[in-house]
Amino acid sequence: MNVDFLIVGAGFTGMVLAERLSNELGASCLIVDRRGHLGGNAYDEYDDHGVLVHKYGPHYFRTDKPAVRDYLGRFTEWRPAHYQILAWTRGRYWRFPINLNTFEQLIGRPATEEEFKAHLASVRVPISQPANSEEVIVSQVGWELYEMFFKGYTQKQWRKSPAELDASVCARIPIRTNRDDRYLRESFQAIPAAGYTRMFERMLAACQRTMVLFHADYHAVRQHVSYRKLIFTGAIDEYYDYRAGVLPYRSLRFEREHFTAEQLAARQAVAGKAGFWQPALQVNYPNEFDYTRIVEVKHVTGQTCDNTTIVREYPLDYQRGGEAYYPVPDATSPRQYQAYAEIAARDPHVYFAGRLATYRYYNMDQVVDAALSLAEQIKADWRAGARRVA
Ligand code: FAD
Ligand code: UDP
Repeated sequence: MNVDFLIVGAGFTGMVLAERLSNELGASCLIVDRRGHLGGNAYDEYDDHGVLVHKYGPHYFRTDKPAVRDYLGRFTEWRPAHYQILAWTRGRYWRFPINLNTFEQLIGRPATEEEFKAHLASVRVPISQPANSEEVIVSQVGWELYEMFFKGYTQKQWRKSPAELDASVCARIPIRTNRDDRYLRESFQAIPAAGYTRMFERMLAACQRTMVLFHADYHAVRQHVSYRKLIFTGAIDEYYDYRAGVLPYRSLRFEREHFTAEQLAARQAVAGKAGFWQPALQVNYPNEFDYTRIVEVKHVTGQTCDNTTIVREYPLDYQRGGEAYYPVPDATSPRQYQAYAEIAARDPHVYFAGRLATYRYYNMDQVVDAALSLAEQIKADWRAGARRVA
């Protein structure tokens, strides 16, 4: 087979690049993925009971970039989403992320925003430039709320103390003194109305001269395909056969449990409404249990059915060759990744893109934004006839 672009990975990055390059350059693309479906980690599917679930963990779309929203909006309608998360600790549900309602639960009576601000001022640890995830939280809310909600969860998720992780990790979670309890900060929060997989199918249908091969590992297919450029969206250390060492990642195990309408009837007092198992989309378990969170994505997909499926998420140590879900943002990993970035900079044949290939804790909108920019760069390189610039 002979193509212009061999694209490894059918996730957001690979799909955006295939769509842009095939349509804007008229280039031929072959996308290969070792999984059996489109969408990478954002893939969703109907389980055996007909409930739509996110196979590789919950995917909450959000963005501040109208260009990203509008680009994806060509392939999907949007369903506005209120991503509501609670935390379970000390034997009860807590409003989360930390806000005025959480404070009222803590002190056991109504309070004002001014009172909460005064409380935070009295407990926060004065640190002007937080250097890690522990400091970023205690400098805002002090030790008690940090230990209730962040210390145990982070230790479980990363098998590291928050003090060992970059400040950006826990800084992902907003802390507010008003009653705004949205988990995310971005201005646009919505989910593809018919699901992520349907959106990717529509992207693929919009591609010209593009083929997809599933259950196909790059290393197995590369000798059977001739191509002018390679776009690689898998793990960069794996691409280079770990010649500069194995990069640190965290992995996960997902455990699904299904409930019939009859079983849910007994849960109604907990869930607050019929047809659901828990009272919110996601419940975080910072201190109790081996899992970090339970997700019931039906709360945001809008699916109407009287049964449900929940997914418990267990952090796992990453083993070479296993599922690399998260790059680990600690003090040493940027240096380890840099060794690969330097090898890649000397390699004129490949464009590395996406969460794994650039070793960044990227959200979906960030990878789409980066892929749209890279498409412009590749188009310019292509038109200039250069092998590769950048
Ligand atoms: P991926 O989706 O990882 O796709 C890469 C693809 O390449 C995979 O399908 C893989 O099978 C394939 N591949 C890799 N190596 C090879 C090879 N050698 N040969 C063939 N195929 C290969 N983002 C949000 O915005 N909101 C969220 O709520 C959110 N939740 C998340 C929850 C979890 C548990 C995880 C892990 C991530 C979450 N993300 C979320 C991040 C989001 O998944 C990523 O930003 C996005 O999916 C990255 O897209 P990608 O195309 O770069 O990579
Ligand atoms: N976190 C925490 N307690 C929580 C939720 C998050 O300590 O209840 C920390 C934890 O370190 C986590 C990080 O904040 O990895 C980012 O959380 P987010 O929910 O954004 O993680 P993701 O959805 O990317 O797994």
